[in-house]
Amino acid sequence: MSPLKPGNVIGILGGGQLGRLMALEAARLGFDVHIYCPEPRSPAARVAAFETVAAYEDADALQAFARACDVVTYEFENVPANTVKLLEEAGAIVRPGGKSLEVAQDRVTEKTFLNDLGIETVAFCPVDTIAALEAGLETFGGQAILKTRRDGYDGKGQVRIKGEAGLVDARKLVTDAPCILEAFAPFALEISVVVARGDAEVLAFDPSENIHENGILRRSIVPAQISDDLRDRAIEAGVKLAEALGHIGVLALELFVMPDGTLKANEFAPRVHNSGHWTPEACLTGQFQQHIRAVAGWQLGSKTRIADCEMENLIGEDILSVPEAYTADVRIVSYGKGTPRPGRKMGHVTRLRAPR
Ligand code: ADP
Ligand code: MG
Repeated sequence: MSPLKPGNVIGILGGGQLGRLMALEAARLGFDVHIYCPEPRSPAARVAAFETVAAYEDADALQAFARACDVVTYEFENVPANTVKLLEEAGAIVRPGGKSLEVAQDRVTEKTFLNDLGIETVAFCPVDTIAALEAGLETFGGQAILKTRRDGYDGKGQVRIKGEAGLVDARKLVTDAPCILEAFAPFALEISVVVARGDAEVLAFDPSENIHENGILRRSIVPAQISDDLRDRAIEAGVKLAEALGHIGVLALELFVMPDGTLKANEFAPRVHNSGHWTPEACLTGQFQQHIRAVAGWQLGSKTRIADCEMENLIGEDILSVPEAYTADVRIVSYGKGTPRPGRKMGHVTRLRAPR
């Protein structure tokens, strides 16, 4: 693809905070952004040049959007496959391509794809019935996590099972939607690696250590306190995944560091990721700009990190203490969302430290 020029239009499917932060970076590079989102006045649309408010199934709106954009990308992985198909039929270039979405949308396909690449995951089995659930639980020694195969995020669509605990909810979940049962990983820590891949190059940011609370990311600490060897293995896995998908743009691979020092992949997101929110603050080129550069057919920027840091999510009412509680040594990003509902990601702050 020949590199986009200033004034060209980048379409983004989805209007949340990830779209907002991509749109702001795209504007810095001279592009106009067109947000496609079913809800009006989304956080992303409020900082973009153009907005389409329509359903992801609206063929007419998608055709008009395809004509209006020089390239289309997405900020969430649950864009219906048919939406991408309709856009491509209408002549749009969609980056990253359909393969990344297809693999990431189904946890069974995703883990199978990772395993086939030689990237280990926890043991898992697809379960669609209570009988299959009970058989799987027996295999995994009574402790496991049941997740819906599709549409889960921030710990939603998951039940933790240990002995009797969680069983009632698990039986209900498995009758509601196709599921995956995963062996419980008694990990030492969780890390992720954010990878950017352009037409001619691929790079990975330093892995972060990620701390979750109630299934939601709370903090990312950079650099993760892991050996150089482990860091290299995590990066190698992320790069291998991006190459295998033919992914253009940013992706993030979440990994468990096991007590014996092995890595097990948890999942990946075919997009910019919450655990990479520190990158614009601490690196010469952050994940949002890398993503825009890649989908625009530009060279990637330098990933050089100029500080150690810790990113903390502002969840629910945390946002109400901004700006008072956050002073000189932190950088604040607020997503411009109205109501601070519990569990809703409202913004984040990054504290920088001189590198050790
Ligand atoms: P989401 O799509 O909601 O991010 P994840 O699969 O990443 O779903 O699960 C959210 C969190 O739950 C993980 O970051 C991890 O802390 C925990 N978790 C998920 N799967 C397992 C597992 N198999 N063993 C132990 N903890 C898990
Ligand atoms: Mg996750």
